[in-house]
Amino acid sequence: MSAPLMEEIRPHIRRFRWGEADVVTVLDGANVLDAVKPPFCMDKSDEEIAAIAAQARISAERVEHHFVPTLVNTGKELVLFDVGFGEAGRTGTTGRLRERLAEAGYRPEDVDVVAFTHCHPDHIQGVMEGDRLAFPNARHVIGRREFDEWNSGANIPQRREGNRELFLKLIAPLADRLTFLEDGDQIAGGITAEAGFGHSLGHMMYRMESGGRQLLIWGDIANHYVYSLRHPESTVAFDDDPAAATATRKRVLDMVATDGIFVTGHHMPFPSVGHVERQDGAYRWIPMTYQSRV
Ligand SMILES: [Zn+2]
Repeated sequence: MSAPLMEEIRPHIRRFRWGEADVVTVLDGANVLDAVKPPFCMDKSDEEIAAIAAQARISAERVEHHFVPTLVNTGKELVLFDVGFGEAGRTGTTGRLRERLAEAGYRPEDVDVVAFTHCHPDHIQGVMEGDRLAFPNARHVIGRREFDEWNSGANIPQRREGNRELFLKLIAPLADRLTFLEDGDQIAGGITAEAGFGHSLGHMMYRMESGGRQLLIWGDIANHYVYSLRHPESTVAFDDDPAAATATRKRVLDMVATDGIFVTGHHMPFPSVGHVERQDGAYRWIPMTYQSRV
């Protein structure tokens, strides 16, 4: 008798000590896109994409896309970076952040700061739970430019119209309780906001320093560990200002590779923490291993 074939088991929470802080990455969910292009490699032919995929041993037809908020406990404050798809995602394969935070031992009331990288749906939709704030005791912080651009709408691309409505419904009404950030502003002990404009017009990253360690929570600076890192110059359909997004991607990849900084990325392969190495004029994603911390 042979054992039955069973459902896949995959990890969805990772917690590790970094300096004197706890860092937790949580899989809000994953979905499968039925093509590489769009969204990725908009400047590449199908043959070029097939060659890039083959070299990385990944599919040239489909992409599994991960959504991974980061939580940091500095020892004094609990800071959540982006809030996932929330209730609206739960009809599908996303929106699991809340239940998985509970599984990791955190109550929504425990979160002291919610820091948004930007206002695309996978990053903001979970801000409300029903008609209440999902993290009711948290200070909510956001880049000033990011808020202003979505609020005005003047420079928001046409294809983000639905996204702008979502912003007006979920984020604009919070204006009175939001803290607006400039490049370099501190949001909690050892955590500062850094401008990373382009993917969205006012996209922010956050840099944590603790006990001699650094971690860059880079949000959506790069959206795929192969297509965005092997070809950072390639335009991505998700980028709202493609030229600025490409310039920022190149700048940040160069910075983290040069300085050897570890990164968590919302769309990097779960557990979404690693570093970036230079390779053949571009970059390669190196997942964190146990060896990074001993
Ligand atoms: Zn995203």
